Amino acid sequence: MPLFGVLALQGDFREHLASLTDLGEVAVPVRTVEDLERIDALVIPGGESSVIDRLSRNYGLAEPIRRRISEGMPAYGSCAGMIMLADRLENPAVASNGAVQETFGGIDMTVRRNAFGRQVDSFENRLDFNGTNIEAVFIRAPEAVQVGEGVEVISTVPGADPTSQGRIVAVRQGNLLATSFHPEVSGNAAIHEFFINITRGDA
Ligand code: GLN
Repeated sequence: MPLFGVLALQGDFREHLASLTDLGEVAVPVRTVEDLERIDALVIPGGESSVIDRLSRNYGLAEPIRRRISEGMPAYGSCAGMIMLADRLENPAVASNGAVQETFGGIDMTVRRNAFGRQVDSFENRLDFNGTNIEAVFIRAPEAVQVGEGVEVISTVPGADPTSQGRIVAVRQGNLLATSFHPEVSGNAAIHEFFINITRGDA
């Protein structure tokens, strides 16, 4: 039975822990390198990606997480977690000391943070996720504005141009999954189930 970890430095990690345990999985918070070494798969929660970036570097977790991702550990990022899994950020946060926000990377995509509006902006949208119609909750959500050839686009929402393929809000590349939206908030199990199947080698 795989052991799931949820990065528990900042953000709504408790909701992800509950989503996984509600589905019968064993899930533990990850705050140290020792926690990271024990787990088989990692969830990176929603929150504030620049804070998750800074804390993960302060805790010495950023490099070990990068290494485990490059070795094939399955990882799922929602919202801020999606940002953390992007190889490239279009608009990284810049701290007052000039430090530029970094990511763990792993998915060959360029992500725009806060792509759907400002702090107060959140919305819900029904969309197709692998054949399941789900209610998706977006909170200051990012968007993948460019994806590489190896990246599978799973979900989009309509853009301003109705003839375009839409705005990319869920992607998969190998063992890595990312969504702009928050299934841990809406209580929809389809995304966590899909990630569990990826982890078990069934998807
Ligand atoms: N806008 C946030 C960021 O840049 C993400 C918001 C969220 O996770 N709900 O990290």
